[in-house]
Amino acid sequence: MDTPTLAVFKLASCDGCQLTVLDCEDELLALAGRVRIAHFLEASSAVRPGPYDVTLVEGSITTPADAERIRQIRAESKVLVAIGACATAGGIQALRNFGDVAEFASVVYARPDYIDTLATSTAIADHVPVDFELRGCPIDRRQLLEVLTAFLAGRKPDLPDTSVCTECKRRGLTCVLVADGTPCLGPVTHAGCGALCPAYRRGCFGCFGPMASPNVAALVPRLRAAGMSEDEVGRVFRTFNAASGGWSS
Ligand code: SF4
Ligand code: SF4
Repeated sequence: MDTPTLAVFKLASCDGCQLTVLDCEDELLALAGRVRIAHFLEASSAVRPGPYDVTLVEGSITTPADAERIRQIRAESKVLVAIGACATAGGIQALRNFGDVAEFASVVYARPDYIDTLATSTAIADHVPVDFELRGCPIDRRQLLEVLTAFLAGRKPDLPDTSVCTECKRRGLTCVLVADGTPCLGPVTHAGCGALCPAYRRGCFGCFGPMASPNVAALVPRLRAAGMSEDEVGRVFRTFNAASGGWSS
């Protein structure tokens, strides 16, 4: 059997999720023995043409060129995995979806007529079929390794779609919302970070996006009781995954 090929592409994003790929260090060396890294500009300027067996894509669709590029990447990829909040929900740049992009451009740029942009920032799955969406801002390295090894082995990734609360319980952490009255989105946020913020006695602000079937209506009164104003409640859901429809389910 031919050595499977891995490609990593970037669209509108901060590179943080690609850095998580590089952060796998020891595991990447082992992985490099099993796959041929064919396209990963963050790691090497050497590029091999597609098709690719597994492709990771970071970033959202914010320009007409992005929209065309993701169609090309899809056509060249057997398995396409969207990585991070930008690629799975439009990212923090999707805050533009609630404003007027033409007005933003006129304020920010001396020559807004040079700017070729879409009015929205959208997830990759809004444009092409995606085989798996890996959440997080940035993604978690343990989850990334599970996704890569699963697809290279020809099976589905085995990742929980429960809440951050379950990770707190597994770590034996005291609930910051119940014990300290700290506002926390953990009850409605997708698991994956290992309850990073509550481990430091901070509330979760939802960077992994909505879990499956989040009960937002039950949580909001608890956030208000913990001292959040209406404005703060609205804003905390409009951060990294602002454009995700999942919060309203
Ligand atoms: S999801 Fe977060 S860390 Fe990843 S590219 Fe987007 S902004 Fe950066
Ligand atoms: S606890 Fe919440 S905000 Fe903190 S890293 Fe995890 S998902 Fe992100």
